[in-house]
Amino acid sequence: MYHRVLPENICRTYPLQSLPMPVDVFDEQMKWLAKTCNVLPLHEALSAMRSGQDYDKPLVSITFDDGYEDNFHYAAPVLQRYGLRATFCITVNFLTEGHSMWFDRAADAWSRLEKQPKQYFADLFSSHDVSIQSWMKQLKNMNNTRRDMTIRNVEKAVQGHFSKERYAPMSLGHLSVLKDMGHEIASHSLSHPILTMLSDNELRYELQLSSEKLSELTGGDIYGFCFPNGTYNERVLGDVKKNDYIYALTTEEGANYTDSDQFQIKRIPVTMQRTMAPIHAIRLLNFRSEISRLRAAWRSLL
Ligand SMILES: [Zn+2]
Repeated sequence: MYHRVLPENICRTYPLQSLPMPVDVFDEQMKWLAKTCNVLPLHEALSAMRSGQDYDKPLVSITFDDGYEDNFHYAAPVLQRYGLRATFCITVNFLTEGHSMWFDRAADAWSRLEKQPKQYFADLFSSHDVSIQSWMKQLKNMNNTRRDMTIRNVEKAVQGHFSKERYAPMSLGHLSVLKDMGHEIASHSLSHPILTMLSDNELRYELQLSSEKLSELTGGDIYGFCFPNGTYNERVLGDVKKNDYIYALTTEEGANYTDSDQFQIKRIPVTMQRTMAPIHAIRLLNFRSEISRLRAAWRSLL
C-alpha cells in the first residue's frame, strides 16, 4: 500500500510521514519486486489466485490510494521501467472538483502550528497529546461537520496558507494515460468521507456514483473499492457488494490467501519509517522483510 512517491527532500519534511516514499527507494523496491514476484493489478491477481494455478513466485499487487499527481509523474515511470502494472484507487472529487483532502489540510495546518496553540487544541480534545498522530485520530472520530469546523479553526491559527500544489491531484488526462498503460483504476469514493458516519443515501451515492464516474472517465469497468481512511462496517460491506464491486481494500495489515474474504483485502503499508529507519543502508532488506511478513511475525513476538 502506497500513497505518494516524491523526491526525497519533500518526503523528509512531509507532515504525515506514513504517506510518501522517496522516488529512488521506490525504484529499488519495484526493481526487486519485478525480479522476485509475480506482480498483477488487483482484479487480475484475484482471478489468478482463484484459478488455482500454481505460481513459482509469490503473487503481489501494488496499490496507490487517493490519486495524487506524483503517482503519474514519479511512480508511473518507475513502474513502466520494470514492466509493472498497479492499481490506482481514485477519490473522484479530488480529481474532478479539485477538492483538497481533509487529512492533507489538517496535517499541513497542524505541522505549521506553534507549540502553544497546539497545546490549546489538544487540551480542547482532553487528549493533551500534541503529536500529529493524536490530532489525526481525534479528527477521524468526529462527524464530517465538526471535523471541518475544527480543521478550519486550526487553519485560522496558523501563519501562511495551505499549498494546493503540494497536495495536487492527478489530472483527468493523467488518469486516462494510466488506464491506457494497463494499470487498474479502482474507486476510493467521491469525497473520502468516513463511510460509517454517512446516511444510507449518502453512502449509496459515494459508492455508486464514484464507480459510474470513473467508468465514464476511463471507458472501462471498475472492479474495486478502497475504504477511505480504512473505515467500514457490516452496512458498508453490504452496500459495496450490492454495487457490483467484486473486491474491497482495507488498511488492515496482512497477506491474502485463496480463502480470504475478497471484500476485506488486507494490505502491507510500505512506509519510510518501516523501510528506511533506523538503518537506511538495509532499506531493501527492510522492505523484503515487510513484504514477506517476516517482520510482522517478529513484531508479534515482541
Ligand atoms: Zn485515502
